[in-house]
Amino acid sequence: MTYSVKECFLTLQGEGVQSGSRAVFLRFAGCNLWSGREEDRATAECRFCDTDFVGTEGEGGGKFRSAEEVAAHVQRTWGQGSEERLVVITGGEPMLQLDEVLVAALHGRGFRVAAESNGTIAAVAGLDWLCVSPKAGTQVVQRRGNELKLVWPQEGIDPAELEQWDFDHLLVQPMDCEDRESALQAAISLAMERPRWRLSLQAHKVVGLP
Ligand code: SF4
Repeated sequence: MTYSVKECFLTLQGEGVQSGSRAVFLRFAGCNLWSGREEDRATAECRFCDTDFVGTEGEGGGKFRSAEEVAAHVQRTWGQGSEERLVVITGGEPMLQLDEVLVAALHGRGFRVAAESNGTIAAVAGLDWLCVSPKAGTQVVQRRGNELKLVWPQEGIDPAELEQWDFDHLLVQPMDCEDRESALQAAISLAMERPRWRLSLQAHKVVGLP
């Protein structure tokens, strides 16, 4: 199995329940809801993406021939120190490539393995943390996990329906769009009206981390 990695870097997790934690971000190339090309955005299933996941030329990116090669790369990126190692696997859509062999290889090097998915592909077994961020108009099959992150507002998504899914934490995050102020107010309103939802902000963008 060859793994295509867009980028791999050390940072602080900027979103969600684990916000502020030192983590290696491993971003896989490719997504099943958008090609990543601007000319395709208007017809894509997901149209508000703020991430470049095309190709393998990003910082720490490349093609890796085995799970062990990926795990060794993640370990080098983490650097010294053996405690509380965390890798966040994202994309694109990580479930297109992430498999149990790679999860085991990362566990073997002492990492807790977190993943962030759009939920349209069933999550691989063995993850320590799963965040699902549903997109309007898509069929979400992964309705169980640790964290449900709703980017808001999205026409066609009913928060009451999502509350029936099996997640420990429900987070609402303002959409990073042209009208950020309206998105922020919409997210605040949702959290005020439905107390199971907590407001999540993209702290890494505030403090200038990748
Ligand atoms: S599902 Fe995620 S990675 Fe894919 S296009 Fe949408 S926001 Fe981007």
